[in-house]
Amino acid sequence: MTEAQAITPGREPVAGGNIGMGTQYLEVRGLTVDFDGFKAVSDVDLTLFQGDLRFLIGPNGAGKTTVIDAITGLVSATGSVSKSGVELLGKKVHQIARAGVGRTFQTASVFEQLTVLQNLDIAAGAGRSPWTLLRRRNGVLPAIAQALETVGLTDLADKPAGVLAHGQKQWLEIGMLLVQNADVLLLDEPVAGMSSEEREETGNLLRRIGGERTVVVVEHDMDFMRAFATSVTVLARGQVIAEGSVAEVQANPKVQEVYLGTAAAGASSLADIPDELIEESS
Ligand code: ADP
Ligand code: MG
Repeated sequence: MTEAQAITPGREPVAGGNIGMGTQYLEVRGLTVDFDGFKAVSDVDLTLFQGDLRFLIGPNGAGKTTVIDAITGLVSATGSVSKSGVELLGKKVHQIARAGVGRTFQTASVFEQLTVLQNLDIAAGAGRSPWTLLRRRNGVLPAIAQALETVGLTDLADKPAGVLAHGQKQWLEIGMLLVQNADVLLLDEPVAGMSSEEREETGNLLRRIGGERTVVVVEHDMDFMRAFATSVTVLARGQVIAEGSVAEVQANPKVQEVYLGTAAAGASSLADIPDELIEESS
């Protein structure tokens, strides 16, 4: 992404995406991951438009992380993953990253001894000399300064990443994806372990960056999903069992069944299911 394509204020994620009618960004078809005969992901289809903030939910073991691993080339898979028409399946991890598909992991993976800025420099490949020539007087590349601003870490740029709060480390990881020019972001449980204030901040961050990107968030926190998702896909046993708006998915009996173990447990919608129960069943 060039600077001209940088975030336009006021453009927020909406269901179905908000950029150029029907611009298709990531198309997943028949995605299947077979671990020695066990199908962790089975025939998954996902159509993800730019500007859609898609939540991917489902009990533990449903295959959410494996879907992300397959899209980003970490596990081998069959089917098809194409980004704006370019097939990614079968490409190497670094080629997929270079194609603009970035992900975060369930446990934040930043270089703790290096500063926030150094982490971003490395992610941007800015340690190499041609880039250093382009640096401004203050020693920060414009794209990096902008990422720092976007993820709210400008004041902490010179602090070692190791001293950051848990939530701030996740924001740094998201910043690292931004400086890599990722426009498809796959975030694996980004708010796990965050305080409610950090969750709120993270949701707002996703809104800020999601308007002009394709963001997929794997999440267990139903309140967080209700507050920020523009669309939801529910996975269970490696398969997509429901997809739609938050309301549609909450009203879906198959979804209630998966989360409760039984549809007849007294909850009239997913909204009535306490988060503790969802955590337990997951
Ligand atoms: P989720 O992220 O939804 O909790 P995962 O994608 O981590 O689920 O796992 C889906 C299923 O695949 C689980 O049953 C898990 O045990 C299994 N699985 C994950 N990775 C491997 C692997 N490398 N080898 C074998 N089975 C795996
Ligand atoms: Mg997982």
